[in-house]
Amino acid sequence: MSAPYKTWQCRTCGYLYDEAEGDAGEGLAHGTRCGGIPRTWICPLCATPKAEFDRVEL
Ligand SMILES: [Zn+2]
Repeated sequence: MSAPYKTWQCRTCGYLYDEAEGDAGEGLAHGTRCGGIPRTWICPLCATPKAEFDRVEL
């Protein structure tokens, strides 16, 4: 069993990262979970650090 995918939102600009979708432009494959993203990853739109993203329920 696998946990449901989550969505994360940048606090600064509102960019949404959906674990199920990944982000091809960032080299993140479908199903890449937040925990699997490097700590050094930053928001592709505003460069806010990953640590500043909040989990959101859509
Ligand atoms: Zn951002």
